[in-house]
Amino acid sequence: MRVPGVGRFLGWRHARTFVQIPLLLVAILMVLHGLFGPSLAPKNLATTLTWLHFRGVLALVILGAGNFFCFSCPFVLVRNIARKFFRPRWNWPQKLRNKWVSVGLFVVVLFIYELFDLWASPLWTAWLILAYFGTVLIVDGLFKHAAFCKFVCPLGQFNFVASTVSPLEVAVRDPEVCTDCHTKDCIRGRRDSGSDLVILQRGCELALFQPRKVGNMDCTFCLDCVHACPHDNVGILSRMPASELMAVEDHRSGIGHFSRRKDMAALMIVFTFGALLNAFGMVSPVYVVEKWLGHLLHLGIEAPVLATIFAFFLLVEPLVLLGGAAWFTQKSGGSRRTLMPLMVRYSYALVPLGFGMWLAHYGFHFFTGMFTIVPVSQSAMASLGWNFLGHPRWLWTGIPMRFVQPIELGFIILGFFGSLLVTHRLAEEDCPGHPMRAFIPWAIVCLLICAAALWLMFQPMEMRATFMMSS
Ligand code: SF4
Ligand code: SF4
Repeated sequence: MRVPGVGRFLGWRHARTFVQIPLLLVAILMVLHGLFGPSLAPKNLATTLTWLHFRGVLALVILGAGNFFCFSCPFVLVRNIARKFFRPRWNWPQKLRNKWVSVGLFVVVLFIYELFDLWASPLWTAWLILAYFGTVLIVDGLFKHAAFCKFVCPLGQFNFVASTVSPLEVAVRDPEVCTDCHTKDCIRGRRDSGSDLVILQRGCELALFQPRKVGNMDCTFCLDCVHACPHDNVGILSRMPASELMAVEDHRSGIGHFSRRKDMAALMIVFTFGALLNAFGMVSPVYVVEKWLGHLLHLGIEAPVLATIFAFFLLVEPLVLLGGAAWFTQKSGGSRRTLMPLMVRYSYALVPLGFGMWLAHYGFHFFTGMFTIVPVSQSAMASLGWNFLGHPRWLWTGIPMRFVQPIELGFIILGFFGSLLVTHRLAEEDCPGHPMRAFIPWAIVCLLICAAALWLMFQPMEMRATFMMSS
């Protein structure tokens, strides 16, 4: 916030809206092109921008800075406009104040992505974006605060989990100032001096009270707390990436203890193993497995076969690996925790590796197709009769594979070492006398996941939503 230029911009109260408006316009353009433009995915803005550019840039920004995609989310802009006309009346139900709904939706999105080949369908991609806008409006039209972001949005959950390894977080500059603060505007919102009912600047809608906030989980980087704090005591601070994953026993405002949250652990597991699953869906062995499973189960349709693969990746594999490592930690490491708390505790350590895999996968599509934005935009404009961008240069695709593969390798290895680091810290806490005994089973789990990720990355991959790569 004190960086010249950038800090001044972020400190401006309307900075978020300023960034959201162009993204909303791009989203509208994508929907229109998806609905009415060419049906060939590599020629359509809906598919190329969604599946090549958006995902790749999102992962890279989270790696290099923080959750700036939730900051610039156009869905929230539409929601804010709608709330000027309709005030939500209800609080989100107590029983649903956890991550189970969003974990389920995360799996559903991964599933329909594979089942309906969303990357290949501009029409379905456009409907997905529209469905997202519709769901935000319904959920946040009915329920107060940021119910959609915190409890529903699968994309937001992805960003929250991934940003646990970001180098920046929104945090208090000086805890002493908070001790003496009586208004707590960062959570309550800044009120009008004449009437306590008039809110001039809202506080944190995600129930994160700054002095007790730990890390980036559930933080949309909206900066409302920055603007609300009357003491200018909230900033965007640097920190050691993934350090919050080591603090599983700390109490976090708006979240509780990571170590007691089975729903949160399930989110970490879906995030990590979903990365493998999503990459598996685009390499050629998946067709062999699908065919073999279809024969074995006597099934002629794809959905149940795909559901079986999903169950293997997201239930059987994590249960066997994490359950086995927890059992060894208990037996050889002498941990006094039972199996389930051990599995929950160490599931957080897998996040850097999972993120490394997502980065490698999304980075692959982004780097090999990053220049397609040029011909697709030229083509979209030409179809409207505006030729000022010139003829589409379809030969513009992206960076050659030989440069991209070392980057992919680097992301996975970086994630692997990040996971080992977190695992070791947790093992030290768990078994102070013999940390290596607790560490080794989990290090083996990390090694197996890393080996699987590397194997997947070096399989021939589908060039999703990319055109003429051989050129
Ligand atoms: S962050 Fe600001 S508003 Fe919140 S408790 Fe600290 S000083 Fe008060
Ligand atoms: S108001 Fe809440 S969600 Fe927004 S930046 Fe601050 S802590 Fe994060």
